[in-house]
Amino acid sequence: VTVPEPAADDLLERREAVVAEVQEHYYSRPPRIERGWREYLVGVDGRVYLDMVNNVASVGHAHPRIHAAVSRQTRLLNTNSRFHYAAITEYGERLAATLPDELDTVFFVNSGSEAVDLAIRLGMAATGRTDVVAMAEAYHGWTYASDAVSTSIADNPHALETRPDWVHTVEAANSYRGRHRGPDAARYAPEAVERIRALAAEGHAPAAFLSETFYGNAGGVALPDGYLREVYAAVRDLGGLAIADEVQVGFGRLGSWFWGFRQQGVVPDIVAVAKSIGAGFPLGAVITRREIADRYRTQGYFFSSTGGSPLSSVVGTTVLDIIEDEGLQENARVVGGHLKARLEELGERHPLVGTVHGAGLYLGLEFVRDRDTLQPATEETAAICDRLLELGVVMQPTGDHQNVLKIKPPLCVSRESVDYFADMLDRVLSTGF
Ligand code: PMP
Repeated sequence: VTVPEPAADDLLERREAVVAEVQEHYYSRPPRIERGWREYLVGVDGRVYLDMVNNVASVGHAHPRIHAAVSRQTRLLNTNSRFHYAAITEYGERLAATLPDELDTVFFVNSGSEAVDLAIRLGMAATGRTDVVAMAEAYHGWTYASDAVSTSIADNPHALETRPDWVHTVEAANSYRGRHRGPDAARYAPEAVERIRALAAEGHAPAAFLSETFYGNAGGVALPDGYLREVYAAVRDLGGLAIADEVQVGFGRLGSWFWGFRQQGVVPDIVAVAKSIGAGFPLGAVITRREIADRYRTQGYFFSSTGGSPLSSVVGTTVLDIIEDEGLQENARVVGGHLKARLEELGERHPLVGTVHGAGLYLGLEFVRDRDTLQPATEETAAICDRLLELGVVMQPTGDHQNVLKIKPPLCVSRESVDYFADMLDRVLSTGF
């Protein structure tokens, strides 16, 4: 199968001429896509693609209930959150209800970067400190503070040398390819604790420790059992706070857990969330305890023009309704479990498959050239993604070595669709790429 030539237009050249070059697009010659439906994308040439990468369109592309809610609300009212209207209250209550009782206070913003930025500022305001400890190899956003704690070299090759001095890192607790593997991964937590205590002893007691609760950027690598429990306890012991970045992994995607921190058996002090919560609409939120939220006063007041607007709130409530009514978390558990088993079976036949990370519909298929040395199969992964596109599947690499398939389709993906993905992957791995 070969991809038909894109329709003859000059839109890509015009895009490249007008949009900043660093704002990259998928694929060097991307299909032009103007429609989506559930887990499918449709090119202007009529070709249908299975979208296995889109955790932003969490409830599925072009969901009619989102359309209806947006359409209704834009005909009624949209304004900033300083006005009094029901939608912000109702959405705030619904969102807080998905979290443990003590996390009862919501800030509404417009993206993951904003949510992480605000979470950091809250941590600093509440503790009166400026040092932050973050896990290495992560991506948390592009704003000043969220970028500062992002040390993924795939996103910025100079990340480690260019951090402001208030940012400190602990090693990425990767039990597959990090320094401690398998059962030895239990050593990451005590080492992180030691590092945090040493920082405190040097006069850099942290305002907060910040990480993803399930390592999304590395391809959905679960943190070692008990990792967050130990690290959160140590940070709190020193008077700091625990910030959870749930932008990628939260909101039902992990199947068995609505929030990633549940998998670790902890409750953070501050949770940053975005992406899935808006199903493609720019929505983000920070949820924390009332006393932490109140300390923001030391920074002035908080205002985001469109954060928590009637439109944003209605979209957020509708997304929660859809997740509940369509059983999407359960679908993530069942269909994701089936897909993981299929991918593991591919691993038995294809030596390039190093391992399959993840849970529910956040999976990572890691390609290696050698299962002992774990040499990353970076070029092969890129070629596999290109070949998958030819076969009608949208898939992208992730991780510092760009050797992990980032598998995070809309939560409504069907068993038939994930079977198609696994079949096509089998075909690519069997016939070459
Ligand atoms: N945190 C994590 C873990 C992310 O993956 C991302 C985006 N990829 C962000 C934060 C930033 O979110 P946004 O792109 O909505 O600003």
